[in-house]
Amino acid sequence: MTQANSDQFKALVLRQEDGKTLSAVEQLSIADLPEGDVLLSVDYSSVNYKDSMAVTGTGKIVRTWPMVPGIDLTGTVIESQADSYKPGDKVLLTGWSVGEQYWGGYSQIQRVQSKWLIPLPNGIDSKIAMAIGTAGLTAMLCVMALEDAFITPGKGPIVVTGAGGGVGSIAVAILNKLGYSVTAVSGRSSTHDYLKSLGANDIIPREDMLKPSRPLEAQRWAGAVDTAGDAILARVLAETDYNGAVAACGLAAGYKLPTTVMPFILRNVRLQGVDSVMCPNERRQVAWKRLAQDLPETALTEINRVVSLEEIKQVAEDMMAGKIQGRTVVDLN
Ligand code: NDP
Repeated sequence: MTQANSDQFKALVLRQEDGKTLSAVEQLSIADLPEGDVLLSVDYSSVNYKDSMAVTGTGKIVRTWPMVPGIDLTGTVIESQADSYKPGDKVLLTGWSVGEQYWGGYSQIQRVQSKWLIPLPNGIDSKIAMAIGTAGLTAMLCVMALEDAFITPGKGPIVVTGAGGGVGSIAVAILNKLGYSVTAVSGRSSTHDYLKSLGANDIIPREDMLKPSRPLEAQRWAGAVDTAGDAILARVLAETDYNGAVAACGLAAGYKLPTTVMPFILRNVRLQGVDSVMCPNERRQVAWKRLAQDLPETALTEINRVVSLEEIKQVAEDMMAGKIQGRTVVDLN
């Protein structure tokens, strides 16, 4: 660590030693930052499941070392070589392998590529945008996927798995605001009051969804937002109504899918994958506009809590242990 000077700032840096991931808050200077055409003062970031995997060294999220993780950020432009942005502009970045392959949001100052940025959407401030973050964008993309499959509120209940987590909580709040009846699946009884306050009409325990399913079960859901994968997604598919749709975005239970073709060929069920990382900018901007409109700010107050750079490691460990509820915002100011 060098002597403090005016261009120094703090960042959480991951390094790999003997196959283990070590994380520490370090003092960096502008010269340490990667190449890019926009220099930002980072206002807020957030802790997603993928960030927790990166920080705790679970799975193979980080692809270059050392890494400044943080797949989401909001910031204020300091310098820009891109015509599209000028100093003082408020911007938002989620995905594009930032925090995995490129340095991300857990730094008070960061240099990024302008093609990854979108202007901060109208009606959403920097902190709220990070309470939403990749998790909220993904939840909205899942809801849009159900709409694309003509699943309207009158068709019947929507089941949301991993409902106590970031994606699940926001999906519950959006679906409720749009008038859907929502059944939340949660592995923790401690989330029940919280999920009801977000608008869940029913809550079912995770164990019920983990029971091995037959190729087709009784029809229960017009649609689903699945953050779990594996046996839970298999059961969701087996229980989805004729002409129903399932938006699958996560693997909290596992990456496998032990299912059969029966829901697809006998019930016309649509399984729509949802990816937020490489989602084209036009669809992102539509999704963010919808988030400004269809996600009640009161729900976000309920959903989010704020931590410092120094607290991220603990949050990541808690998230991997399934102890985190809702969203965690990181304050870089
Ligand atoms: P969180 O950790 O906030 O939420 C995950 C939730 O899943 C937990 O809160 C818990 O909810 C539930 N859960 C935990 N362990 C298990 C388990 N073993 N079996 C079933 N459910 C479990 O993560 P996020 O909401 O940020 O992400 C959710 C998933 O979506 C992750 O797999 C993540 O990688 C993926 N994701 C995908 C994106 C994409 O672009 N496709 C973008 C963002 C996330 P409860 O206690 O209520 O059951």
